[in-house]
Amino acid sequence: MTDHPRIPLAGVIGHPIAHSRSPALHGFWLRRYGLKGHYIPIDIAPSDLPEMIRTLPRLGFVGLNVTIPHKESILHIADIVTDRAALIGAANTLIFRKDGKIHADNTDGSGFIANLRQNAPHWAPAAGPAVVFGAGGAARAVVAALIEVGVPEIRLMNRTRPRADAVRADFGAKVHVHDWVQAGHLIEDAATVVNTTSLGMTGKPDFTTPLDRLNPHALVTDLVYTPLKTQFLTQAEARGATVVDGLGMLLHQAAPGFERWFGLRPEVDEATRQAVLSA
Ligand code: NAP
Repeated sequence: MTDHPRIPLAGVIGHPIAHSRSPALHGFWLRRYGLKGHYIPIDIAPSDLPEMIRTLPRLGFVGLNVTIPHKESILHIADIVTDRAALIGAANTLIFRKDGKIHADNTDGSGFIANLRQNAPHWAPAAGPAVVFGAGGAARAVVAALIEVGVPEIRLMNRTRPRADAVRADFGAKVHVHDWVQAGHLIEDAATVVNTTSLGMTGKPDFTTPLDRLNPHALVTDLVYTPLKTQFLTQAEARGATVVDGLGMLLHQAAPGFERWFGLRPEVDEATRQAVLSA
């Protein structure tokens, strides 16, 4: 066992990884705070993951972000998995500890909430039900976070029903699974409405479900951030709802990892957004 080298290395692993905005984000923070360190994208094929994860700490890496397709499989490799990562079934942040153990956490849920608190400070999660579209990995993090901040009921819809049923089985009685065709009715009295599907993302089909019966007092947010203003958010805004885009979640979920690896909690502000948008 050796001490970490003086200049810490971190990065994001995925396959593919060239599209990731995380290097621009962490690079901006490193420069902003004048910290020594490097953050790089690393393409790792699934079959190479176990070996590479044990090799990177020996090269001086202090931790990693994890993205598709490794977010679930990394849980089988990590030595310590936080309760929330285990419940969600995915991790996005690794810390390579000095004792050689790999610690895996999931910060998507806290990033999701921090984004809403920052950009919609009057949001009252306990004020009414939340409607969540999607039941993938991101949805599980969002559901966990919404329950934690006191949402009384979560109305969950997913194209593939059994995946939504699994969320209900894992997260309990506050989660109610509905058929997508009921969406128009379910958003009428919702305090919070979230798209966690990839619908609306550049290159994917659009989110075409009408939101014309949306509660105008709802807080509506989309996890998709390319484009920043999705059709989902445009529809919600037209109904008078408060909307928050998904870029802030990406920024906030990154902050805990940066702090652990480089020793300073970074600020998420407009300059941070612009640095990522212009990269
Ligand atoms: P995932 O596990 O692959 O889940 C994808 C979800 O999208 C599933 O609910 C899936 O439904 C649904 N979906 C995909 N194509 C669909 C279609 N044509 N019609 C209806 N539903 C469809 O992915 P994920 O990790 O949860 O990520 C979901 C989205 O969130 C992605 O766009 C990702 O970029 C974004 N995200 C953003 C952040 C952020 O920081 N802003 C963080 C994490 C994720 P089925 O179950 O039926 O396939």
